[in-house]
Amino acid sequence: MSPDVKENLKGLTVQEMEAKSVEIGHAPFHGRQLFRWINQRKVSDFSLMTDLSKDFRTKLAEKFYLPQVTVATKEESKDGTIKFLVGLEDNEKVEAVYIPFEDRNTLCISTQVGCKMGCTFCATGYMGFTRNLKSWEMVDQLLHLPTPKEVSNIVLMGMGEPLDNFDEVMKAMAIFQDPMGPKIGKRHITLSTVGLTNKIQKFVDTNLGNLAISLHGTTDEQRALIMPVNRKYPIAGLMDCCRNLKFKSRRRVTFEYLLIRDFNDSDEDAYRLASLVSDFPCKINLLAYNENPFIDFKRPKDERIIAFQNILLSKDLTATYRLSRGRDIAAACGQLRTAETTNKKGTPAQRAELAFPAASLAAH
Ligand code: SF4
Repeated sequence: MSPDVKENLKGLTVQEMEAKSVEIGHAPFHGRQLFRWINQRKVSDFSLMTDLSKDFRTKLAEKFYLPQVTVATKEESKDGTIKFLVGLEDNEKVEAVYIPFEDRNTLCISTQVGCKMGCTFCATGYMGFTRNLKSWEMVDQLLHLPTPKEVSNIVLMGMGEPLDNFDEVMKAMAIFQDPMGPKIGKRHITLSTVGLTNKIQKFVDTNLGNLAISLHGTTDEQRALIMPVNRKYPIAGLMDCCRNLKFKSRRRVTFEYLLIRDFNDSDEDAYRLASLVSDFPCKINLLAYNENPFIDFKRPKDERIIAFQNILLSKDLTATYRLSRGRDIAAACGQLRTAETTNKKGTPAQRAELAFPAASLAAH
């Protein structure tokens, strides 16, 4: 029987795996063993699961199959960052980035092939959207990429908008932290969103990881120029949402702020940013724009970044400046883009219209 008439058994939660075991006449316990083989021992071949009974393995192989992502290419930066081009079953590709830093090894995972959000500073945004990833394709990025060391932290910040693929992303996040799976603690998992205001509290309610929101602008006019999503979810509503978030444990939202030279890096921007977030607990991560051949924006000078950060610090805000990693291999934030993709470059206004058409907004 070919794999395409069998059922994919990857990307299931423990409970779902128990149910599959029962479905073929075995105890739920066998489903848990199976879950561990796939998600902890990283085995994608039933015949190698030696502590499962022969009968169970035979039935599994008759009805199910275990696909696995492949590594199409791998590029290593001089700072140790590795960018993987990950091959999927249907020959689509996404990128994942391994970032070793001091006491942690972070993996940046993709959640969609391409992206609908059309952010004008982002190389992925120029690819357009192809499809959502399934939970197993996200879990496999963690399990089956040859990283030099065990991954300790996961950031859902690769290609795609995670909240636009809500159910599959939540499932993957649950598997990441399962004690019978990869066992990555929820404090070490961060989901980054452009700010889909209607889904943020729903994510917080799952209590599956940290929340980071890409802000990147301090007025609606400015932010909408680089993030078309602002047309639908403007800054005031986003801030209201953050102000009223009900976290289940002691957490706070992190804002990512990408500094672009002469666009959003002025003193006035810093003061405006400080006042936007001054009345609720949060943290600000400053990033400097990573230049790439597809987009004309420039990186600010270091002095400008420090001056911007100092203004935030003077307002008693927690503001860190994150050094970019992997810039020499285009693996840094905003640089991910699968090489085969044709250039769909357009003006920011054209791209904004494509991602969030004015006509569709009027209907909401
Ligand atoms: Fe999509 Fe994120 Fe790129 Fe925006 S920054 S286009 S949400 S991948």
